[in-house]
Amino acid sequence: MSGNLATVSYIGATILFILSLGGLSNPESSRRGNLYGMIGMTIAVLATVFGPRVTAAGYPWIIGAMVVGGAVGLYAAKVVKMTQMPELVALMHSLVGLAACLVGFASYIDTSAPLAGAEKTIHELEIYIGILIGAVTFSGSLIAFGKLNGKIGGSPMLLPGRHWMNLAGLLVVIWFGGEFIRAHSISEGMTPLIVMTVIALLFGIHMVMAIGGADMPVVVSMLNSYSGWAAAATGFMLSNDLLIVVGALVGSSGAILSYIMCRAMNRNFISVIAGGFGTGGGAPAKKVGAGETAPVGEVVPISAVETAELLKDAKSVIIVPGYGMAVAQAQHTVYEITKHLREKGVNIRFGIHPVAGRMPGHMNVLLAEAKVPYDIVMEMDELNDDFPTTDVAIVIGANDIVNPAAQDDPTSPIAGMPVLEVWKAKTSIVMKRSMASGYAGVDNPLFYKENNRMLFGDAKKMLDEVLVALKS
Ligand code: NDP
Repeated sequence: MSGNLATVSYIGATILFILSLGGLSNPESSRRGNLYGMIGMTIAVLATVFGPRVTAAGYPWIIGAMVVGGAVGLYAAKVVKMTQMPELVALMHSLVGLAACLVGFASYIDTSAPLAGAEKTIHELEIYIGILIGAVTFSGSLIAFGKLNGKIGGSPMLLPGRHWMNLAGLLVVIWFGGEFIRAHSISEGMTPLIVMTVIALLFGIHMVMAIGGADMPVVVSMLNSYSGWAAAATGFMLSNDLLIVVGALVGSSGAILSYIMCRAMNRNFISVIAGGFGTGGGAPAKKVGAGETAPVGEVVPISAVETAELLKDAKSVIIVPGYGMAVAQAQHTVYEITKHLREKGVNIRFGIHPVAGRMPGHMNVLLAEAKVPYDIVMEMDELNDDFPTTDVAIVIGANDIVNPAAQDDPTSPIAGMPVLEVWKAKTSIVMKRSMASGYAGVDNPLFYKENNRMLFGDAKKMLDEVLVALKS
């Protein structure tokens, strides 16, 4: 393939990636968006492999790597459950970071195209910054992976003087950057490069460890952004325009998503990154049972049949799905119940919290998969004022996103986070298996409210029973 054809293909792929991002912004166009992305990526890979910069000697390596990578990807796609997607995404981000580091070291020791003067300095700067971003992304994403799958606890690890440690690390990295650029040989430059890599790896670990459970969505989207910048840095190191553009697209869209997540959680971006700096956020969850911190009131259980009776009498219903709906895979039964109630003339709507589940858009994806009509799936802000005029609010496997402590308890780790005010409905029903806390590890006073009922059990099993009772 000629250089010109490769460039045209790259432009085509770039346009498809932009269209893909546009499509993914709306559930209705998201399938089309995915398709554009897949076509764009196929063109990008083909144009790179058959482009002017790959010689015949490189093909066996590329094919070998693609077979191994493709097999791992296919296997992961088959075995990973929907509930494990956020962890998989975190792991993928870490691989982008690792790739940036490896490409950085490889470009540094590669002497096949010797550079001199300003060109050499710019190339070395690209390498230094690329490895820096890559290493932070790599270790940070691995810790996020551990936190998301529960191998690492959700509570923040707040080391004394952590901000000073971060600042000292930054200054050392800048100083070693100077040493690296001034190095006369590869072996001389290797020491500052390795020291910086180790500091960046430790910073990535420290940064994510210091972030509390409820702030994790911001970290996930932030690492998504970092992985984009790491890819862009790799593009600079390899002089690949498409990688630079795609990296910048991912980096900036991830940054916008982080901003949206911060706004949704009423958090300041810098506070989240610094692990609770300047806010009450990020404080470890209080232990329930310590007497004074336990919410007052009585927990009133309800049966599936009683739930169905309440639904039969209701004129307006709001369903609030959370992570538990994903775990139970209850979305299809939710759809059946919705269809049944709509046929009976009930005004039924869904309230989606921006951080419900374990990844942005998690609930929307599940509801779309179950074919719930988009027009009754509303954002939190669109229906939060409607709870006082709602007969029944059903919370399906959600916890933190309906926790009134976010409004009432300024010392709570989730204080200030906007929540769906289900307790303002005439009756709220919470479906979950036990009294266990949610991701943020905070007890939920909603369960003890007078107008709240608890439908204990697996969400899918209980909803199946509710559906049978509704139809009988
Ligand atoms: P939560 O984690 O707060 O609560 C989920 C609840 O579901 C649990 O309390 C659990 O209770 C219940 N549950 C689990 N399995 C089942 C089941 N099979 N049937 C019925 N219930 C079940 O989830 P929310 O969606 O309310 O809130 C999301 C949380 O995750 C927030 O803290 C958010 O910050 C965080 N987060 C969000 C991310 C995102 O991007 N959206 C990313 C990372 C974290 P029990 O065990 O008693 O059944």
